[in-house]
Amino acid sequence: MKILRQTDLEALEKARMLGSDGVLSLLEKKGLVGRGGAAFSTAQKWRTCRDTAADERFVVCNADEGEPGSFKDKLIIRHNAETLIEGILIAAYTIGAKRCFIYLRGEYDYLRPHLEEQIADVLSRAKMKVTIEIVRGAGAYICGEGTALLQSIMGFRGNAMYKPPNPTRQGLWGKPTLINNVETLTCAAQAVLFDDWDPNLRLFSLSGNIRNPGVYEFPLGVKMSSVIDVARPEKKLKAMSFGCAGGIMPVDKNMSITPEAICKEDCQHGNYSIIFIDETHNVVDIVYSIAKFYTYESCGKCTPCREGTIRILNLLKKIRSGEGEKKDLQILRELATHIQDTSLCGLGETCGTHILTSLEHFPKDYEAYLGKKK
Ligand code: SF4
Repeated sequence: MKILRQTDLEALEKARMLGSDGVLSLLEKKGLVGRGGAAFSTAQKWRTCRDTAADERFVVCNADEGEPGSFKDKLIIRHNAETLIEGILIAAYTIGAKRCFIYLRGEYDYLRPHLEEQIADVLSRAKMKVTIEIVRGAGAYICGEGTALLQSIMGFRGNAMYKPPNPTRQGLWGKPTLINNVETLTCAAQAVLFDDWDPNLRLFSLSGNIRNPGVYEFPLGVKMSSVIDVARPEKKLKAMSFGCAGGIMPVDKNMSITPEAICKEDCQHGNYSIIFIDETHNVVDIVYSIAKFYTYESCGKCTPCREGTIRILNLLKKIRSGEGEKKDLQILRELATHIQDTSLCGLGETCGTHILTSLEHFPKDYEAYLGKKK
């Protein structure tokens, strides 16, 4: 697996030789984009942070991998923490930061001793006057969102904040703060060092009704049939969900997995986690369980998300109890669209995706529940 290749501090050495501008040009040329979902140019983000006037700046590694179905960052932390830390140091060197943080998902706390050991080892070998602190999350999904994560590091409740200002210009304690996730920073070290680094490779977390769940590396554009061959479904597949945030669509073996192809289905590729669902399931049951997740995780700051997620859940409960009517499906559709359009952060913006995509692609699963009690 390419993401597990170690760089042995040679990437940091090369970065120091290239200088800050040289690193930015190289990352731009190599085409590294963020792996957290937005696919924004890493070089551009680093440059904005570096060029924002301030007496101090920070690097934050987002290791709060809370998206259900996603577990790729855990693999990197377990098996290639050294390269991840090297990526953090390269980012710190490039933007001129002296203080870095790793915001570690609460459930990954068992990885902390290993991470601390690796940080101590890399820092002593790198001989850089930089600190890397681990901040443990408390299990809130919202803290994977950049602004909420920063609030949490500063000791406040993890609430999302309005943008602008973007954290890249005004983040921790009002100073420019670079936030990148684990995969992006690991790729940054590898992109600096390896001539054959491939910008198209992505980590896929595969789970659900399959015999081979796990993390796999595929190039963008890979055929869904190749992914399914590796996953080895238990029974005939019916649907796939791109994580909670991504949406649910029918399995199309001929589909090339690209952001464009997934977005065309009104789904979101996010961080390439795919949960396979076989024909023994009614999609509405999966949708209900995702809705429960959103209701629980809504931080309550804005009304559409706080009130809307619970209403969606109640409607789904009604439908599953057999008391639903056709008009409930329309209300569901309107609610989901409204919450998406009016919520403050990514959680609210994506909490309707699984509703809308399932209504579009699996109307029969809803109809199977309607009026069952009569
Ligand atoms: S959209 Fe939801 S999670 Fe995000 S700030 Fe509003 S209430 Fe909180």
